[in-house]
Amino acid sequence: MDTRISEFEPIRIQRYVPELDLLSNPVLNAKEKEFLADLYDFMEKELDPELRKLENLNYYVEEPTQDKKREIVIGIMRKLAEKGYYSTVLNTENYEVGRITRNALIAFAICGGRWSEYSEKYIAGNYSIEMGRLSGGTLYCNPISYASDEAQKERFLVPVANDGQIGASAMTEFNAGSDIFSMELRLHEKDNKLIAKGKKLFITNGMIADFIVLYGRLDNGQLAAVVVDTEHQKLRNFRSTRVRTYGMTDAFVSRLIFDRVELPKENMLHGHGLDIAFHQLTEERLVISAEALGDAMKKLLYSHAYALQRMQFEKRLHQYQVIRFPISKKIRELNLMFSALIQYTRQMDEHPELGSSKLMAANAMGLKISSTELGFESAIHCFRTLGGRGFTRQYANEIGLLDPYCMLHGGGSNYVLEDSESRRFFKHKPTRREVEDIIPKIDY
Ligand SMILES: Cc1cc2nc3c(=O)[nH]c(=O)nc-3n(C[C@H](O)[C@H](O)[C@H](O)COP(=O)(O)OP(=O)(O)OC[C@H]3O[C@@H](n4cnc5c(N)ncnc54)[C@H](O)[C@@H]3O)c2cc1C
Repeated sequence: MDTRISEFEPIRIQRYVPELDLLSNPVLNAKEKEFLADLYDFMEKELDPELRKLENLNYYVEEPTQDKKREIVIGIMRKLAEKGYYSTVLNTENYEVGRITRNALIAFAICGGRWSEYSEKYIAGNYSIEMGRLSGGTLYCNPISYASDEAQKERFLVPVANDGQIGASAMTEFNAGSDIFSMELRLHEKDNKLIAKGKKLFITNGMIADFIVLYGRLDNGQLAAVVVDTEHQKLRNFRSTRVRTYGMTDAFVSRLIFDRVELPKENMLHGHGLDIAFHQLTEERLVISAEALGDAMKKLLYSHAYALQRMQFEKRLHQYQVIRFPISKKIRELNLMFSALIQYTRQMDEHPELGSSKLMAANAMGLKISSTELGFESAIHCFRTLGGRGFTRQYANEIGLLDPYCMLHGGGSNYVLEDSESRRFFKHKPTRREVEDIIPKIDY
């Protein structure tokens, strides 16, 4: 049954807003714009029809849609890979724009979509599809690229990064959410095998993944990372089921059970599990920031379009300051944060050693917090502007209203990050004088 109400006009984005178009953003250089123009062209021709199919399936209730969606999502990731838009780790020499900058621009574009002046229509963006791309193309591919030998690269990296097979990264457990270090999944060593026993929760792409980088604990207590070839989800003693979420509906977020799954020891990546998981942290935070900013742009386009069209009290909504002010304020913030983002990604591309800079990681963390909060607030404002219609699938699906709520905890919960950010500022090694001043006052 289709749940759409015929009296509800679709929201038509019909006005070009240069401040919301990356191709007119003065911060980007000619090469970056050229890269983006090709990407938008690809999105219009190849992605938009597929994303619309996914959106349409969301209007149906009482009908099974999961298998249809699975096929569409897998097809989208293949198309992205064919064009070099899925992962940016292997194809560096094909582009004049740096790897991390490309990753961020792709994230922004896929989340935000774009008003195409040429076709006079809005090309769809979809945050949950970008989540799937991030999980497979970055959170899976980057650790493999970092910690694997040549044979492992051939077997586990090329099929995902180049051919678009689905990758996933499995860290979170029922008792290890923000506190990743308390992971309990066991990787018991037996002869030339690792026996994986434990459960993972909230794993993006989990139930469609061909390969999973699985983090767990070895017999000596150390964290390690091992690649699981799911044999197209048929691997013995491995089960994956869908976790139903509000928002991010096409990210195939899953619960995984490893019930003594046998894995060849040669699938283990080289190095400490925590280092493997966290070495790419700065890049991940920057890509998540780009996603949030792209999505904020989309929400602002919708708020703007709706405010132009909807009449109440014999005026268009945009004639009320209370509607207009938050839109202009957020456009301003969006562009400020975007310029910070692009400075950071360019620096990371030019100086890869910044990947291990604590200050760069902290700056990226700050940007992640601010940009995801902006995405969240832009969704709230869009929700308020839409009034009752915001509560209908008809409008909420198209806009992806609840998607940005996820990123307040994805890639590091904002509370945890803020706590650690604020602690950094007060980190203080007492001077000798202070120590001498304090010690005599302690009453033993
Ligand atoms: C749609 C979706 C996709 C996801 N995809 C993946 C994936 O692909 N792979 C994966 O491994 N995980 C994934 N996750 C898991 C995600 O990373 C976790 O949800 C996140 O780490 C938070 O853990 P938690 O949900 O257990 O919250 P908790 O850790 O229980 O935290 C609850 C709240 O307490 C706060 N908090 C916790 N500790 C502190 C502290 N020390 N100081 C201050 N505040 C604190 C948190 O910020 C949060 O607000 C996904 C989650 C979702 C919803």
